[in-house]
Amino acid sequence: MAKNYDLVIVGGGPGGYVAAIRAAQLGLSTAIVEQSKLGGTCLHKGCIPSKALLRSAEVYRTTKEQAHTFGVEVQNVTFNFEQAQKRKNDIIDQLHKGIQGLMKKGKIDVFEGYGRILGPSIFSPMSGTISVEFDDDRDNEMLIPKNVIIATGSRPRTLKGLIPDGSRLLSSDDLMTLQQLPKSLLIVGGGVIGVEWASMLHDFGVEVTIVEYSNAILPTEDQDIQKAMTASFKKRGIRIITNAHILPETLQDNQGYIEISAEVEGKQQQFFAEKILLSVGRQANIENIGLENTDIEVNRGYIEVNPHYQTKESHIYAIGDVIGGLQLAHVASHEGIHAVEHIAGLNPETIESHKIARCIYGNPEVASIGLTEKQAREQEIEIAVGKFPFAAIGKALVFGEKEGFVKIIADNKTDDIVGVHIMGAHATELISEASLAMLVDATPWEMSAHIHPHPSLSEAIGEAALAVEGKAIHQ
Ligand code: FAD
Repeated sequence: MAKNYDLVIVGGGPGGYVAAIRAAQLGLSTAIVEQSKLGGTCLHKGCIPSKALLRSAEVYRTTKEQAHTFGVEVQNVTFNFEQAQKRKNDIIDQLHKGIQGLMKKGKIDVFEGYGRILGPSIFSPMSGTISVEFDDDRDNEMLIPKNVIIATGSRPRTLKGLIPDGSRLLSSDDLMTLQQLPKSLLIVGGGVIGVEWASMLHDFGVEVTIVEYSNAILPTEDQDIQKAMTASFKKRGIRIITNAHILPETLQDNQGYIEISAEVEGKQQQFFAEKILLSVGRQANIENIGLENTDIEVNRGYIEVNPHYQTKESHIYAIGDVIGGLQLAHVASHEGIHAVEHIAGLNPETIESHKIARCIYGNPEVASIGLTEKQAREQEIEIAVGKFPFAAIGKALVFGEKEGFVKIIADNKTDDIVGVHIMGAHATELISEASLAMLVDATPWEMSAHIHPHPSLSEAIGEAALAVEGKAIHQ
């Protein structure tokens, strides 16, 4: 049977399902095709489950290591991984039901099947008919849309010779369903995902080693953040090896342990661990979705789009992880909203990627926006830098969280804020002040002149903004 729609979205992650809701708000008849579960990577294998487990790690660590400093005496603190996983699964279920409810509310048709784009056919002279395939013996369903959004997301990238088997060699997807904690874990890749898992698993009592190819963990972050995070992790007992090129061909089992070597600064070094986590980035889901039936172009593994997220076929849009760039849930959602508003004939603002916050939820947290100091200097921007430590902020001491700092980078000539970098407790909440400031083109003076409540961690932002002009009060 064939059905007509204004819009069909392939993929129900935070890109696809948010786009569907916006489309319904704008009165477009909308269908969404999802092969697995609405919510996508973010809800089922990414943002939410990892943060739920990180919160368990935080509660355990605080109870074990810090409670007594608050006057709270707790004996025999133990950790129940099964309960942490259950709590995480309950949160996912609740949010999943919420999305299903929103689909019903918006009268959005949900097809639980695999979507494939067809070329011009008896259904339509244009490419873009979506054939929905089911994993039972039902016939394919044909959806004939005026417009299509591809939001098929991404999956863990693998390395040649290191393919996760779900048992000893794991991807971040596998960690979500882990039944038992390993005694030790070698993490290949010290980017955002590797660092979050390292922090969490260390807190759960796993012996963690990170092996990173570049010269620092979190290679895309500001150098001050890289240095401070490295120092913090090492102090906690997380081993970090940088400039390390893993050698998959050396992988072997040795009495229940995995043995693998890496070339570290020209020398071969051997590592042993019970399991390996491969966290070397994400790969777009562009295969087997029918791109070959269209004129859509792919560049370096990602679908090419214009600033309105239109592919080379202007009625077919693509958003989220499948187009690369910042592979983040909030980015996918906003791209989805933009694409739908463009389809509806509105005139949405172009999304400026340098004004999007990036967050890392380990202990301590990291959040940043805009350019790093190195990038600003490479762009020959004449910069002024203000930095302020949480150790000088009353609320940080009250919380027992004095590690970290706020760093603001401004353009001396234009007075624009070009980058903000925060490491410390609640950094991922605090960064929103910086992203609003950048959205409205605030100056460092404006960031300091709006009066921050006392005591609050946000005072560190006001002080760092004052520090740009050398006027910080408590420094
Ligand atoms: P996805 O969420 O990947 O959704 C794509 C959906 O499309 C999937 O449900 C898939 O089943 C479906 N699909 C694919 N092909 C088809 C097809 N042919 N037919 C039907 N359905 C199909 N981002 C953040 O912003 N904050 C975080 O804290 C964060 N933490 C993360 C932690 C981890 C461990 C990981 C792995 C990722 C994390 N991310 C985080 C990234 C975030 O999850 C992604 O950026 C986001 O999910 C991308 O959304 P999307 O809609 O583009 O794709």
